[in-house]
Amino acid sequence: MRNTKKKVADGEKSLIEGADLLEASGRVKTFKRWRFNKDMCSAKALASAGFVYSGKDSAKCVFCGKDLEWEKEDEPRREHEKRMPSCPFVQMGQPEYDELSLEQYLSLKREYVLHTVTEVLLSQVKGMVTQQTTTLDNICRVLKYKLTNSSS
Ligand SMILES: [Zn+2]
Repeated sequence: MRNTKKKVADGEKSLIEGADLLEASGRVKTFKRWRFNKDMCSAKALASAGFVYSGKDSAKCVFCGKDLEWEKEDEPRREHEKRMPSCPFVQMGQPEYDELSLEQYLSLKREYVLHTVTEVLLSQVKGMVTQQTTTLDNICRVLKYKLTNSSS
C-alpha cells in the first residue's frame, strides 16, 4: 500500500455532488468498479471506514483527505487508524451514520467541507503559480535575447 497523489478534480466534484458522502451508503456508491469486493478490502468496508473511490485501486477518506492505494488483504478500518490517528472520523471510532450524535455529525461535516475546500483552493493556487512561472520564464527569455543582441 502506498500513498497516492490527491486528485483535486475529485474533491471539487464531491463537494458539488454533496453531503451524502458523509454517509457510508453514499460513499459506497462511488465505488462503481472495485476489484476487491470479495476480499477484506471491499467497497463496503472502505465506505464504512470513511473512504470514497479515488481512482484505480485508490480510495480517499472524506474526513481527513488521506488518499491510499489498497490491496485486497487490507483492513480499511485498521489501516485508517494506523495511518491517520488524527483523522476526526478515526478519533470518533469510525461510527455508523445513525450512531452519530448531532454534535459529531456537525463536526464531521465541518471537517469534510474544510478539507474539500482547502483541496480546491490549493489546486487553484498551484495553477496560478504555474502560470506566473511561465510568465517569468518568458520575461527571462526576452531579457536574455535583448542582452545578447545589444552586446554584439
Ligand atoms: Zn480519515
